[in-house]
Amino acid sequence: MARPEVVVGWLLGADLRDPELLAAYELARERVRELLSEALPEFEWKSPYAERRVHLPRGGLDPVGLLEMGVDEKLHRRWDFAIVIVPNELIPRHRPYALGLSSEALEVAVLSTSRLSTGERLVEEIAALALHFLGHLFGLEHAEVGPMRPVLEPKDLAPEPYRPTEAARVRAYLERVVVTRLEEETERWNAVSFYLQTLLQDPGSVFRQVLEHAPWRLPLYLGRFTAAAAVSTVYLVITSDAWALAASLPPAGILGFTLVALFFSTFFLFHGQDLGRLGHERTWREQLARTRIVLFLTLGLGMFSLWALVFALTLAAGAALPRALILQWAGGDATLAFAGFAAALGVVAAAMGGNLEEEAEIKAELFIDEET
Ligand SMILES: [Zn+2]
Repeated sequence: MARPEVVVGWLLGADLRDPELLAAYELARERVRELLSEALPEFEWKSPYAERRVHLPRGGLDPVGLLEMGVDEKLHRRWDFAIVIVPNELIPRHRPYALGLSSEALEVAVLSTSRLSTGERLVEEIAALALHFLGHLFGLEHAEVGPMRPVLEPKDLAPEPYRPTEAARVRAYLERVVVTRLEEETERWNAVSFYLQTLLQDPGSVFRQVLEHAPWRLPLYLGRFTAAAAVSTVYLVITSDAWALAASLPPAGILGFTLVALFFSTFFLFHGQDLGRLGHERTWREQLARTRIVLFLTLGLGMFSLWALVFALTLAAGAALPRALILQWAGGDATLAFAGFAAALGVVAAAMGGNLEEEAEIKAELFIDEET
């Protein structure tokens, strides 16, 4: 029986002409393929090469653009995983500089060789970096030793095969993700049943991926988004009509309004940010559907966190207001109902404000798992 194929495509993302560097990239690509074949011989490892010479080979590049380029190429060429390599610096987000980054959701890693050594050592360093980030794409976490050791400096980089326990985990991961691609079993699906099927196939790992994005941190990162919610809430807290309105609504009405607000703000943000469009191909690819589900749930939980934050702050504000004033405005003690109502409106306001936010900001927060 033929061994199942796993395709790790390499994409050159800049107009690089330096023959020495190009030769090093080529050797590193072959070295990584060898190490993968050694560690996991039950798979047929392919590592095709492609070029997109759209950037000059110098100056800093935005990693989100490179990730998107990788996704495009991966879908177009039907690769399973993609490594985008550039000689440029990567514009870092949380660190002084970045050697590379990975996005498990997109199944793409980006490598920069700008801070690596030259000559023979360069090949080793690229290969080690690629194996580290591929490890993350294969679902591995950091370890004390071996290729999954956290990368601190380029000089620490040395290519090693995955350790047996890691190889076993990668094997299980690849068997699930690559070998049993849903798309091979089914030709045509309508959208809803396809998404449902994708979710139900492995709900545990979908939720694990969602939690890895730490959606509750979303309100903290997206300042404008949270500011829009805060402004609308402050305005509501000092408006007597808002208190009267909230007091007149039945609890079920406020709950229903909250659920609708959460769903629509998530939906609006998801489409407004163009998060659903991760590649140009409009085929029902399972991995793409899975990525969309993860992103939608992450945004949804992020919106819920924002709701909880505004709810708590409104309760606190309500406690700070004179009771006599609230009784006069609402005709009773309506702080709880009011907080629920204000939080739901705040979430809607945030979705509107969040759409003005720089698109790259949200994408980077959602997509990039590790920057090293
Ligand atoms: Zn790492």
